[in-house]
Amino acid sequence: MTDTPDQPKFSISTRCVHAGEERKKAYHSLIDPIVPTSTYMFEDYDDIMRFTSDKNQGNPTARLDYGRYGNPTTRAVERRLAALEGGQDALLFSSGMAAVTTTLLSFLKAGDHFVYTDDIYRKTREFSRDFLSRYGVESSVVPVGDATAMKDAIRANTRLIVSEIPTNPYLRVPDLDELVAVARRHKLLTLVDSTFATPVNLRPLEHGVDLVVHSGTKYIGGHHDLLSGVVIGGKALVDPIREHANLMGPVADPFNAYLLLRGLKTLALRVRHQNDAALKMAQYLSRQPLVEEVYYPGLESHPDHKAAARQMSGFGGVVSFTLRADLRGTAQFLDRLKIPFITPSLGGAESLVNQPALLSYYSISAEDRAALGIKDNLVRYALGFEDAGDLIADLQTAFDWLEKQG
Ligand code: PLP
Repeated sequence: MTDTPDQPKFSISTRCVHAGEERKKAYHSLIDPIVPTSTYMFEDYDDIMRFTSDKNQGNPTARLDYGRYGNPTTRAVERRLAALEGGQDALLFSSGMAAVTTTLLSFLKAGDHFVYTDDIYRKTREFSRDFLSRYGVESSVVPVGDATAMKDAIRANTRLIVSEIPTNPYLRVPDLDELVAVARRHKLLTLVDSTFATPVNLRPLEHGVDLVVHSGTKYIGGHHDLLSGVVIGGKALVDPIREHANLMGPVADPFNAYLLLRGLKTLALRVRHQNDAALKMAQYLSRQPLVEEVYYPGLESHPDHKAAARQMSGFGGVVSFTLRADLRGTAQFLDRLKIPFITPSLGGAESLVNQPALLSYYSISAEDRAALGIKDNLVRYALGFEDAGDLIADLQTAFDWLEKQG
């Protein structure tokens, strides 16, 4: 591992291609092979004895005996992601939610309390608020970026602070140094979902965050063709998560692991394109009279622009905005767009648009949506790899239509 370009002195583009790789691979293959095995064989009694007496057993570098405990293709992705985020180890999961839930379950027990910031992924909130409470774990939600509310929410039994960066859908960017300082003062662990940032734009571990999770379904996979999740951090923290994952079985699939390895090679290229295109789109939208508000941390008007500029090397590929239209008018505006597909998710080649009130939050009442800050006229535009000029021209056609509606 020492001869691989893991060190920060290599640029992120180089590290996306090479970080964590084993230079010598099976069959002299240039590319990591897919190893689709559910179990691993032993040659004989002596071989079993060697395995069972191995002090290294259970470690990610150890020989494996069963597929739920690890896989070489999966391991190659874990090494790359750990190196990209600057963590000692990583654990790959079947989905982002598997990473979030297994990690939370690994560090919380009945009687514990944790704090999470609002504007967090809806299912993370539901798991924190509705599921964990059934097992005697309490939680409090505080407004993202409100350090006083965070300090006030901490109790004697608080164990963990959970946040997202940038948040979804308002793209708030918490000050990680501030978050970590509060956590350290109270000896709390910090867990940050950095899905929207990617390790190209931000590496929360460098700010002292303990654990980073991603929905690998998004930018890391990068092609809208798989589900995946990962947690990254120090070995002492990833080890217990691995033990829990071995029990619960939210296992990553080696075929998906291969796609992730392939996708990761272009992560920096893709994300930089998406950063540039999103900034152009946000600037365009902020000049549109039919736009009420644009939420993009790259704009000076964004409440967290300074924190974002200080912490991030790019502002991400998602732009949210509200239209001067109602729920139906906003939906009709989106119907006019010819390039993006209407769907949740983000991060791949195709641009995707989502009206959260109609899609992500369709199952809850208008009052509950309003309480969560999900406005009827809110649009989340996740840019793909298309040309920014083409996407903007497409939006202009929809604005021309909206203008005619009066
Ligand atoms: N975290 C964030 C920020 C997300 O946007 C999502 C999914 O949209 C998840 C976690 C969950 O990931 P997955 O869908 O891969 O389970």
